[in-house]
Amino acid sequence: MKMKKVKMMYCKKCRKHTEITVSIAKKKERGSLKKGSIARLEKRGSGKAGFGNKGKFSRKAISAWKRTGAKSSKKQDLRFKCKECGKMMVQNKGFRTKKLELV
Ligand SMILES: [Zn+2]
Repeated sequence: MKMKKVKMMYCKKCRKHTEITVSIAKKKERGSLKKGSIARLEKRGSGKAGFGNKGKFSRKAISAWKRTGAKSSKKQDLRFKCKECGKMMVQNKGFRTKKLELV
């Protein structure tokens, strides 16, 4: 899908329609010491809490019980920047595309 780099959109800060520039946000690695990462590790059994093996040893390959690779399209993380005030906005509803091109 092709999308315009510059378009008119409502800016909450300016309270009117202004020209905004569209960009795709770069993917950031999540830190391994963040709260969610530690909670996930504990759930998977790498932490100290809990009983049992947490499915560490009695589980087939992930492709056998989870629908991995079922979807071929992705939602992009779009950022909109107002040209007048410089306010950055995120999209409130994403859409699926295989390929997104900013023209
Ligand atoms: Zn603005």
